[in-house]
Amino acid sequence: EDVVNKIAAGEIIVAPVHALKELIENAVDAGSTSLEILVKDGGLKLLQITDNGCGIDKDDMVILCERFTTSKLKSFEDLTSIGTYGFRGEALASISHIAHLTVTTKTAESSCAWKAQYAGGKLAPLKPGQNAEPKACAGRQGTQITVEDLFYNVPTRRRAFRSASEEYSKIAEQVGKYAVHCKGVAFSCKKHGEAGAGIAVPATATVRDRIRMVHNSAIANELIAFEVANEQYGFKADGLVSNANYSGKRTTLLLFINHRSVESSAIKRAVEQTYSMFLPKGGKPFVYLSLEIDPARVDVNVHPTKREVNFLNEDEIVELICGEVRTRLGSVDT
Ligand code: ADP
Ligand code: MG
Repeated sequence: EDVVNKIAAGEIIVAPVHALKELIENAVDAGSTSLEILVKDGGLKLLQITDNGCGIDKDDMVILCERFTTSKLKSFEDLTSIGTYGFRGEALASISHIAHLTVTTKTAESSCAWKAQYAGGKLAPLKPGQNAEPKACAGRQGTQITVEDLFYNVPTRRRAFRSASEEYSKIAEQVGKYAVHCKGVAFSCKKHGEAGAGIAVPATATVRDRIRMVHNSAIANELIAFEVANEQYGFKADGLVSNANYSGKRTTLLLFINHRSVESSAIKRAVEQTYSMFLPKGGKPFVYLSLEIDPARVDVNVHPTKREVNFLNEDEIVELICGEVRTRLGSVDT
């Protein structure tokens, strides 16, 4: 049974960035306005995320890492109604099967913080010889999740990683996406032992400022805002996209569907197509797009490594969005 869990976990979490994405989403769902991320050895040695969200009830800590049982525990309200998304109640469980997982958390109601260690889906002793119970400790409201030695017990997976810096770039890219999208939330992401933060965004920053901080000013100065909604297809979209003055080497697409960072090759293709008539040959756009669709119409391809999303009336919706972008590009003096 444990081997099965370990294999399942290794398929959901293929690289450190996959674990971190789940942890970021949990922290954001918990209503946090501050996320601090620390990474060591591309996330293989350490992934730590500290938030100031609602915290986890002490009584919930015992089942926190049991598969499927936890989906949104007591202290949690499902704010985002992403009911159709995959991986429900699986992230922490999976991580606990393939890494050393420590959780320190405090709710507003609790007089102290609680710290617990998990292994194989269950509470484990914090120190050898101790019992496997959460221990009271000092701490502020919120949650700190520490993931150490990811894939320590999956040697084949571990061997597949060539360089820590490659894994760190994937992490920085993912954190950067959420740092742009999550208005009202401060983000920091840094490598352990390095003074400066790789990513640092204050809670008050606008989306345009966020793009300036995470990406660069050359892009941020050339952005057009757009907005489009349609009742028939049950969606609304808005975003910031580069204008015809900007011509990048590769397409940057920050795509959010119902506030989750997702991939869509269909949208990427359509966007590139739209820009091809405005940019010099080979020039690529920068696109931040936040799409909200009735969750009942969204289907996440749960093949864990792909994280591709499909939704009803995809062609029509994508055309409406690209049509709006086309109009904006055409109407701006360049
Ligand atoms: P899911 O998010 O799909 O429910 P997870 O394994 O990612 O499953 O998390 C399990 C539960 O643990 C969440 O539903 C939530 O109640 C709680 N949780 C996880 N991380 C946090 C956090 N940072 N702050 C508050 N609660 C959290
Ligand atoms: Mg989760």
